[in-house]
Amino acid sequence: MDENLLNFIICPNCRSDSLSLKLYVRKNNQIHEGIVTCESCKTWYRVEDGILDLLPLSLRRFDLYSRFAEKHGLPMQGIGSDIANLQKTEQILFFKENVTHYDKDVTDSMFFRALDKVTFENWLNRNYNKIDKPVLELGCGTGPANGSDCKKIKGRGMS
Ligand SMILES: [Zn+2]
Repeated sequence: MDENLLNFIICPNCRSDSLSLKLYVRKNNQIHEGIVTCESCKTWYRVEDGILDLLPLSLRRFDLYSRFAEKHGLPMQGIGSDIANLQKTEQILFFKENVTHYDKDVTDSMFFRALDKVTFENWLNRNYNKIDKPVLELGCGTGPANGSDCKKIKGRGMS
């Protein structure tokens, strides 16, 4: 990572441009390992193998952040796992309270029926004869594979 990059980026969490760098390893005049910290919200972003990880907190790989924090004695607080856990809890509560309403109003809407027809059904029609083993579709929620009468495809929601 070129240190000058800090002049052109903002914090993905709060959009502040007040970022600072703590350098751990420099290689070939580039930041090879370090952290970029937002002075406004105190979120820190790891630089590892020369790459600055600016993924939003909800998309972070906590295994990588945990390992990095442990290696450098950094606080685990603020790596974003608390935010991701909150979002997951909110999602679980939403589907627990709204599953019937959601199925009827969203997944069974004209839009998603049309989307299923031009995506999943077209794919299935083109590939049905090529499928020689059962296919497991993960993360489809109440998507088309769950409702499909195709014996070759089994759908499982991940929510
Ligand atoms: Zn920030």
